[in-house]
Amino acid sequence: MKVNLIKYTREPEKMVAVAARLCYSPVGVDELMDELGDEDVEKLVRFVIKSGHHSTIEHIYFTFAIEGVSRALTHQLVRHRIASYNQQSQRYVKFKDNFEYITPPSIEKDKDSKKKFDSLISNIHNLYKELLDNGVEAEDARYILPNASETKIIVTMNGRELLHFFTVRCCNRAQWEIRELAKKMLKLVRKVAPIVFEEAGPNCLRGPCPEGKFKCKNPPKASDFDV
Ligand SMILES: Cc1cc2nc3c(=O)[nH]c(=O)nc-3n(C[C@H](O)[C@H](O)[C@H](O)COP(=O)(O)OP(=O)(O)OC[C@H]3O[C@@H](n4cnc5c(N)ncnc54)[C@H](O)[C@@H]3O)c2cc1C
Repeated sequence: MKVNLIKYTREPEKMVAVAARLCYSPVGVDELMDELGDEDVEKLVRFVIKSGHHSTIEHIYFTFAIEGVSRALTHQLVRHRIASYNQQSQRYVKFKDNFEYITPPSIEKDKDSKKKFDSLISNIHNLYKELLDNGVEAEDARYILPNASETKIIVTMNGRELLHFFTVRCCNRAQWEIRELAKKMLKLVRKVAPIVFEEAGPNCLRGPCPEGKFKCKNPPKASDFDV
């Protein structure tokens, strides 16, 4: 899995601080941009996070390039509605020679399961190529491609949505692949907006686990998400 933070709002935490201060300030945005120092920014960002004035965090955007993940993962990812997506198409891209797929670790570690998995994927790929050779359009041939198919996606989320995404997808209840993605994304944004994402992650890092009988046995530690 390859995850890169390719674009983000310049001075993200200053942006959040300016948005927060503007609400209570008689002066304009230009002046606020000039007068807010690092300490003010830190104080204001901590205040908005703690007080729940999270609309201010909607002004900062983060764009990720995600490659080497399965369609099973992206199907879950795109359920997050406050975001923008563009994904490699299975209609316009034909996977005749280079059909990549993701093997879950549980299958990878079991020799027999892995052999059967690889063999099925190989059969699927052969039939896919045959369908294309027979004149079937890629948009129809793709109906036989598995959830394991490798894909690439660009996603942009604002800071508020990211905090929600990290809460539900860094949790051990989330599926392993999207959990791995969420963890990588969190580490990336922590580098550029450390205060906003200081306490980001599953609910159990900030309070009691709300998962009831689904509560996990080995909850993650804050250090698991350290940069
Ligand atoms: C562990 C786990 C298991 C899951 N299992 C299943 C499953 O079995 N089946 C299944 O279908 N899905 C499942 N999901 C997906 C889940 O139901 C959500 O679709 C997904 O997590 C997107 O999150 P969201 O809806 O909270 O928020 P997002 O779409 O990320 O939106 C963020 C927030 O904005 C607000 N919001 C967004 N849109 C609306 C709206 N229309 N109306 C009101 N408020 C809105 C809500 O407060 C929401 O929490 C699972 C998710 C997880 C984490």
